[in-house]
Amino acid sequence: MKYLFILLLVLIVIWAVKRTRVGKPTQSSPTEKPSPTEMVACSHCGIHLPHAEAVSGQKGAYCSTEHRNAAQDSNPS
Ligand SMILES: [Zn+2]
Repeated sequence: MKYLFILLLVLIVIWAVKRTRVGKPTQSSPTEKPSPTEMVACSHCGIHLPHAEAVSGQKGAYCSTEHRNAAQDSNPS
């Protein structure tokens, strides 16, 4: 009976660890993420576009990867 209790305890711990890992996806972004419908301005040319279509860089958002490269920015990772 004692071993059954320990086994149950271990299963609960494993379940709790898995639950916390699934609940928090690995997103290590220092900047705050706006909602998908929010408009952002390209840091290079200033054109406004939906955040979902924007290319994110370390310094800001861009309308395309070309402008991110032109601003000498790189993909945040
Ligand atoms: Zn641009």
